Amino acid sequence: MLKIQDVHLAYGPICAVRKASIEVEAGEVVAIVGGNGAGKSTLLKGIAGLMPVSSGQILFEQEDVTRLPPHRRVARGIALSPEGRQVFPDQSVYDNLTLGAYFRRLSNDALEAEVEEQFKLFPRLRERRNQMAVTLSGGEQQMLAIARALMGKPRLLLLDEPSLGLAPKIIQEIFDIIVSLRRSGITILLVEQMANMALAIADRAYVLETGNVTLSGTGQQLLHDPKVRAAYLGVS
Ligand code: ATP
Repeated sequence: MLKIQDVHLAYGPICAVRKASIEVEAGEVVAIVGGNGAGKSTLLKGIAGLMPVSSGQILFEQEDVTRLPPHRRVARGIALSPEGRQVFPDQSVYDNLTLGAYFRRLSNDALEAEVEEQFKLFPRLRERRNQMAVTLSGGEQQMLAIARALMGKPRLLLLDEPSLGLAPKIIQEIFDIIVSLRRSGITILLVEQMANMALAIADRAYVLETGNVTLSGTGQQLLHDPKVRAAYLGVS
């Protein structure tokens, strides 16, 4: 479904991702793990079109999307749920959700049905429908960011650090939702610092270190890899 070939991403002179090659098959959860500053978020921005790729190629469903602007990638079925709290703070939960479907030009009834679908998946958001996003808890904002991305009806969901700053119970809830999204047929590329949790649910995974892909395998292989355990799981 997604094929990233030798992709290079840089902030001016600072090279953040070097010759990264990553593949995601339809129906998979693929995790990218790595430490702070490894280039994980940058890679997702490159896939979403929020950052220009300096060299290499991004193929989505066999088509070259390397130079497509972000909104056209969304229209093709790629949605990014960004790191942290990047919801629209002064808009209500409901408005944040409808903005996620903006480009789809749905009728009011269809829009309501889609919002209802998200409320089924995230019941906490239903209770807070008219609340300003800024007043939500961290976990609720994260759920809203995911729900807003899902409003675009993506076939590939890019999830950037969904666990960031959240309590363990909420993290577990979010990971359960990721698993149920996979069950519903959505393909997921998940960037996480919580390597243990990400690898436990991932079909396959890649390790990114200072901009380079250094290791790849099934989630279980990496979970039991001595190097990964020492570097990212805090066990030796
Ligand atoms: P984290 O988990 O800490 O968010 P990450 O793996 O997502 O890390 P990135 O945010 O992709 O890492 O950053 C990769 C590198 O690019 C880092 O060295 C970072 O300092 C640099 N970088 C990120 N954003 C910018 C920017 N806007 N301008 C310049 N350099 C940047």
